Amino acid sequence: MDGPSGTGKSSVSRRLAARLGAAYLDTGAMYRVATLRVLRSAVEPTDPVAVAAAVKELPLTIGTDPGREVILLDGADVSAEIRGGEVTRAVSAVSAVPEVRELLVARQREIVATAGRIVVEGRDIGTVVLPGADAKIYLTASAEARAQRRNQQNISEGRGDDYDGVLADVRRRDRLDSTRAVSPLRPASDATLVDTSDLGMDEVIDELYRVVALQVSPGTGDRQ
Ligand code: C5P
Repeated sequence: MDGPSGTGKSSVSRRLAARLGAAYLDTGAMYRVATLRVLRSAVEPTDPVAVAAAVKELPLTIGTDPGREVILLDGADVSAEIRGGEVTRAVSAVSAVPEVRELLVARQREIVATAGRIVVEGRDIGTVVLPGADAKIYLTASAEARAQRRNQQNISEGRGDDYDGVLADVRRRDRLDSTRAVSPLRPASDATLVDTSDLGMDEVIDELYRVVALQVSPGTGDRQ
């Protein structure tokens, strides 16, 4: 499951995984943990050499149960901290560093290899991480719809109301993520595009469930 931020990708992927009885992997959370590590090491996120050195050893634990989020750095829960403004502002720069991607893509493939059936969410899953995935979905939505959702989420989680700021951030991250040299954000040629701008969560899940049912024939995707 790929697509830009604010398409509802995380909630949708988690719920789809639960409905399919599959595991779930949030690769964006992994890039966020790497970014937190960089910030804690007092390294400039825009210095690729220092960033690569800071994440060389990354004591990251990530759970794959769609019903229970587990994200640990150095054994401590960082699930809230990685969603904060500081990490969000720096994550595009950190995730553009080739060594960071190499390290995390290898970890993602290891997790997938042992997980059996799994919904993997990110930006480059269908194009780079798992080009042979049984089903590929690319979620899209207008920048305005995405900013509105993210702003609503910020309000409900106590981070304040700033629609214009959020919209500017959505556009900035889109630009950075889709123009970077390594693994730019783009749909795989064989992905099914689903626009969530005017769809409610339940409608999106139903649509995706149909897409997966059509693309995954019985018995495939289950490597256990
Ligand atoms: O999905 P989320 O918004 O948490 O991802 C945070 C950032 O991590 C993205 O803006 C992108 O820069 C990066 N990312 C990536 N490749 C992925 C997942 C996320 O570069 N597979």
